[in-house]
Amino acid sequence: MSRIAFLNARTIADSRGDLTIEVIVELESGARAIASVPQGKSRGRAEAFLLETAKAVENVNQLIASAIQGKDFKNQQALDKFLIALDGTSNKSKLGANACLGVSLAFARASAISRGIPLWQYIRGLVTDKSNMTNGSDRTDRTYKTPRLLVNIIGGGLHAKNNLDFQEYLIIPKTSNVKEAFETAEVIYENVNNHLKSKFGSVLFADEGNFAPNLADNEEPFLIIKEAARAANLSDKIDFGLDAAASNVRMKSNELFNWYYDMKKKYNLLYLEDPFSEEDFENFSELLDKIGDNTIIAGDDLTVTNLQRMERAREQKSINGVIIKPNQIGTLTETIEAVKKAKELGWAVIVSHRSGETNDSFIADLAYGVGADGLKAGAPLAPGRSVKYKRLINLVSGPKNGFTENNEQ
Ligand code: PEP
Ligand code: MG
Repeated sequence: MSRIAFLNARTIADSRGDLTIEVIVELESGARAIASVPQGKSRGRAEAFLLETAKAVENVNQLIASAIQGKDFKNQQALDKFLIALDGTSNKSKLGANACLGVSLAFARASAISRGIPLWQYIRGLVTDKSNMTNGSDRTDRTYKTPRLLVNIIGGGLHAKNNLDFQEYLIIPKTSNVKEAFETAEVIYENVNNHLKSKFGSVLFADEGNFAPNLADNEEPFLIIKEAARAANLSDKIDFGLDAAASNVRMKSNELFNWYYDMKKKYNLLYLEDPFSEEDFENFSELLDKIGDNTIIAGDDLTVTNLQRMERAREQKSINGVIIKPNQIGTLTETIEAVKKAKELGWAVIVSHRSGETNDSFIADLAYGVGADGLKAGAPLAPGRSVKYKRLINLVSGPKNGFTENNEQ
């Protein structure tokens, strides 16, 4: 049933206008699916290898196609194991993590179609190791929560051409009703837009469709967002978060500590991602020790969806939350392994997009399928971002229960 009848890749433009890879897989059953791969800009050094797009496309169409076309893979793990072995390197530098992931995700979608189940349910089967299941686990299973949204409103760092040091100022609507959460984020985003337009005349955007104003200091984004929420009577409906992406921040660690403590006090930060640079496991642990009781200290560049890096973070007690990005590791199976480990360790799991995105909504199914604590997918209204939030809304509350849109991007 999972024999690969056809495999092809081509280039498409990502949200920054850079070329990335899109892969189509057709199974012997006739199930046909497409998946595309996003690209990060503030990438962790230990991420799996992002091969130049044209070369990744060539690898799928030649090396991978000739190795897997006509082969029968009994499940997702079998295909992904085969890709890992075919690559043969520790970071997928031969085939490219982007080439491998495109094949892995398209195969997952096609397999879900073959089995007549929605993608999220296929993914849930991988988490529960029911890889050959036909109907997956119960979607109302209470051990699988609905992810909260982490929505990017204002940005700086490598994602913007402004004077803000930190990469993402996030709001996290408190409700677990994703439709309400999305509407809350939309209203606040719109109020911030109006504020910036009246202050500056025009609005600059960062890579994730969020705003990129030049401001007085690194605190002002929080003040602007707070005021936008107050004006809409939504102050008590949101928490604040920050992705510092501190590998790219030129502040000393003592300055960073002081600034985080100050922001924690003033805005009761719920979520703080990559507060220090990617090799600084020690300062992560000190911060976790100080404010980790009621703040999620998450690794992204620190952990790169990689079991060895996660193990180091566990040993050093560096984090209590982790970003999961499939293209940091390069196959769906390895992504699921990272999620399982994070859950075993009791860490919050936040499934995330990349700054260079496509219209593929795979991560919404991934977040819902694994029962992630959060989905981080950029600004609410940007193309390539809203498609993920809306997919999640459909999965959770839509009349179609995520079935008919299984294969849509
Ligand atoms: C991030 O750091 O969380 C992020 C989405 O950025 P990038 O995709 O550029 O790594
Ligand atoms: Mg990050």
